[in-house]
Amino acid sequence: MNETYDVIIAGTGAAGLFTALQLPGDYKVLMITKDELEKSDSYLAQGGISCLLSEKDYDGYFEDTMKAGRQENNTESVRIMIQSSRQIIDELIAYGVEFERDEDGKLLYTREGGHSRYRILYHQDVTGKEITSTLIERVKERENITIRTFTTMIDLIADEAGCKGVVVADREDHKEWILAKSVVMATGGIGGLFVHSTNFRHITGDGLAIAMRNGIELENLHYIQIHPTTLYSQKEGRRFLISESVRGEGAVLLNEKKQRFVNELLPRDVVTAAIKDEMDKYGSDFVYLSIKHMAKEEIAHRFPNIYKKCLEEGYDLAAEPIPVTPAQHYLMGGIRTSVNGETSMPRLYAVGEVACNGVHGANRLASNSLLESLVFAKRAVQMIQKQWACIPAPVLLEEEKKQYLPNRERKEADRKRILDEIKRKDGTFYAKWCDNAAKRG
Ligand SMILES: Cc1cc2nc3c(=O)[nH]c(=O)nc-3n(C[C@H](O)[C@H](O)[C@H](O)COP(=O)(O)OP(=O)(O)OC[C@H]3O[C@@H](n4cnc5c(N)ncnc54)[C@H](O)[C@@H]3O)c2cc1C
Repeated sequence: MNETYDVIIAGTGAAGLFTALQLPGDYKVLMITKDELEKSDSYLAQGGISCLLSEKDYDGYFEDTMKAGRQENNTESVRIMIQSSRQIIDELIAYGVEFERDEDGKLLYTREGGHSRYRILYHQDVTGKEITSTLIERVKERENITIRTFTTMIDLIADEAGCKGVVVADREDHKEWILAKSVVMATGGIGGLFVHSTNFRHITGDGLAIAMRNGIELENLHYIQIHPTTLYSQKEGRRFLISESVRGEGAVLLNEKKQRFVNELLPRDVVTAAIKDEMDKYGSDFVYLSIKHMAKEEIAHRFPNIYKKCLEEGYDLAAEPIPVTPAQHYLMGGIRTSVNGETSMPRLYAVGEVACNGVHGANRLASNSLLESLVFAKRAVQMIQKQWACIPAPVLLEEEKKQYLPNRERKEADRKRILDEIKRKDGTFYAKWCDNAAKRG
């Protein structure tokens, strides 16, 4: 007998966790994750989560999102995200998430590039950790949810009626076939495919590769955001992000000659392009970021994590400009979905960074991704609930158990599949930012 669940969720980032918590308590739910429970990009989010301030802010927030997305956004998705934002924040607070408040208990807001107003809620400079660890605590309290770590989804099980489960592999590459009435992919982005990325190394676009192998529709895989400011380092591993909110609080970018060269609060792609131009002009691998206008105590209070990390790397943010360089950060494209998380395969849903409902257009506005992950996870659950009663218990036929390449070869083939698709869609972007990923080995 194969194990059977009502819903399987692949991924324990913000999108996966919120999906699990929104499902009714009498659904039998399995969450799987490739690594440790906390090892998700959601956990790393520093800056914050956007929220509509009031009805008066609607047009401004809408325009900021569209402008960052180069007007290519799906306007319906943007509308839904913005109008759902306050409710989502209230739910997070009810789950126990703490955002910064003033002495009277009123929520405080910060600002990041591309935002015309201070509308970003935050928790020090570790907002992702605060949200994700709180959601993990709540998930662990739920008896209907089983969590399996170090369990990697390697394929879907599907027949003509749609998706009916997943194939998983453990660390020794032992396979297991697990059935479910619905499957939710929440496997995050593709940063692990790049040499320079802010993402965890194990986040390698697995959901996308699996979708491609199964003929599921994708959209704009070449819409990839390069974050302008990561701490320059020659070490292996992921790049440490210097959050946009540091620039939001007045930090300035300086070139080799210590001159300012750009408005630091323009959208990410514009700032990244300006940095790249300066680096090319001076043949340098980095530019500088200076926050010297803030007192040491203020920096240590507002950005404790960033301050500490820079000190560990030998830089005192309060005393000197630090070297920063652009790195891969976020995927705007992904598995094509409706505004309810439905993919082109019935009973398969995609939420969070792996999904693309067009909300970010060609470029994501800062602090919209945590929000988007939660808003559309909630909607996917509503859709799952609507269809649940009509779906028969899934059955696995012996002939449906495919053979798979060994782990290493499978990963290599999947990586090539994704990078080839990016190259096909945009050769210039590929040559500029992905070529080093392709050369890696
Ligand atoms: C350094 C950094 C800072 C950021 N700051 C912000 C910010 O301030 N505000 C904001 O809104 N956004 C921010 N983002 C972006 C945001 O955190 C993510 O885009 C968003 O949280 C994505 O959530 P997710 O749940 O879709 O994916 P993730 O949080 O990346 O989770 C993916 C999950 O899928 C699992 N997984 C992957 N492949 C498999 C597989 N094959 N089988 C099983 N499990 C698998 C992973 O282990 C992980 O649990 C930041 C991102 C980074 C990297």
